Amino acid sequence: MIAILYGIARRTAKTTKKRSNTLNTTVEKAQQVAARESFQLEHDNLCVICGQRSHVNVIGAVKEHEYENTTAIAFPVIQCQCGHVYLFPRPSISELGRIYPPTYYAFGDDSEEPDSWVLRAVARGRVKALETRLVPFLPQVAGRPLRILDIGCGEGKFLDAIKTLIPEAQTYGLDSSSSALSRAERKGHKIIHGFIGEVEIEPQFFDAVICLHVIEHVARPDQFLNECRNLLQPAGVMLFETPTIDTLAFRVFRSGVWGGYHAPRHWHLFSASSFARLAGKAGLDVKHNETYPIGTFWVWTFHVLAMKWLPRSIADTIFPPKVIVGRRFYDFALLAATSILDSLIKLSSKAAGGMWIIMTHRSAPPQ
Ligand SMILES: [Zn+2]
Repeated sequence: MIAILYGIARRTAKTTKKRSNTLNTTVEKAQQVAARESFQLEHDNLCVICGQRSHVNVIGAVKEHEYENTTAIAFPVIQCQCGHVYLFPRPSISELGRIYPPTYYAFGDDSEEPDSWVLRAVARGRVKALETRLVPFLPQVAGRPLRILDIGCGEGKFLDAIKTLIPEAQTYGLDSSSSALSRAERKGHKIIHGFIGEVEIEPQFFDAVICLHVIEHVARPDQFLNECRNLLQPAGVMLFETPTIDTLAFRVFRSGVWGGYHAPRHWHLFSASSFARLAGKAGLDVKHNETYPIGTFWVWTFHVLAMKWLPRSIADTIFPPKVIVGRRFYDFALLAATSILDSLIKLSSKAAGGMWIIMTHRSAPPQ
């Protein structure tokens, strides 16, 4: 018995040493490239889910592949023993201008969008999504219109969808991009310029807060979720969307190919259970959690694979990284095909690449 326990202990020690060597090597490589590029890294290995710092295992490394001339660093991806996945080290806040170039898809552009059937179909998709994911959970308010805030609203496309569903709602958009906000304002939405936690907003003002594909981009999702919760009235609801590592695609491509990394811009990747833990820490209850297909992650996955074997120009043509903007028929068809693929993944393995979560204030006070 003692011999068996001794064997297990020796084996565990060896595995831990091997893991830490692999982590050190991957981190050192990232640091060397960062030094050559004068790129600032943030060495914060705190797991925002369990609060530990050292229970980590390197599971891969991810590199920018969507935009040229940002950085060539292979960022180590680590997984805590609690299951949480994050970048360590990650880009410093001072590098945001470099990793979100002016051509970043979410910033949009000033050109008026042509009124094409492709864009109308994409807009209908946004309305349909919110009709399913938000409307059934909205609280009843008497004597005034619903107040709904979109954090990271960009040009206000989801606020437009809310107005289509609930024309009398008061729609507010918060974003750090003034050019995107001015387009949202032109469409009649109220705008708040800046970052959550830094701008002054009346606490518990909103009946609903939506935040779609933002929390994975922030350094401290725990603090971010707290700030969002503070804006919500006691009976209000929050709708969040984020990638999920529960999908089969993550398990297959987690070493660095998975498009859901959106490298190096997604700093935290959640599962349904890690997100529920995070929500609990912020004094929120998860009322509903469901995955949905995201074709874009597959386009990005195929783009990484294509770049391994093909010249960049050809990879960019077949799997355009900015496909998410969806202006051309080809983009629309590619997204439709990859969304069908992700739907099939959901059918066969229970989880697609995206996750939407409905949260309310926790009935009991947070511990
Ligand atoms: Zn952890």
